[in-house]
Amino acid sequence: MIKWICDYCGEETTRVDIDYLIGTDHLSCALKAEQAAKQQDEFDHCIICGVETLYKRSTHIDMRHGYVEGAGQLCSKCYSGGTDRNHLAIPEYIIYTTPNDAELGAKVRQLYWESKN
Ligand SMILES: [Zn+2]
Ligand SMILES: [Zn+2]
Repeated sequence: MIKWICDYCGEETTRVDIDYLIGTDHLSCALKAEQAAKQQDEFDHCIICGVETLYKRSTHIDMRHGYVEGAGQLCSKCYSGGTDRNHLAIPEYIIYTTPNDAELGAKVRQLYWESKN
């Protein structure tokens, strides 16, 4: 007797009910593969704001602009926003000694304006 093998998962399908097979492959494995192929064809979304980017998931990262390795794809807005952003250093003691978030916000804003002078 010939052994049937599922091409997708490599398991034997000889004894699997014919209703659950496509040829000699598991129907579930074939559907999963089809879904994965579809996902590859979808556009990546920006990891910060969620908008659809110009790049498909199947696009190699070397061919993309705004891809952050280990994080994901950014849209052009978030990517340039991330590189142009200015930073303001907040002394840690202000955070420790200000338990009230609203008060802390006010102090941070004050520091911001002081830094602009
Ligand atoms: Zn299978
Ligand atoms: Zn974005």
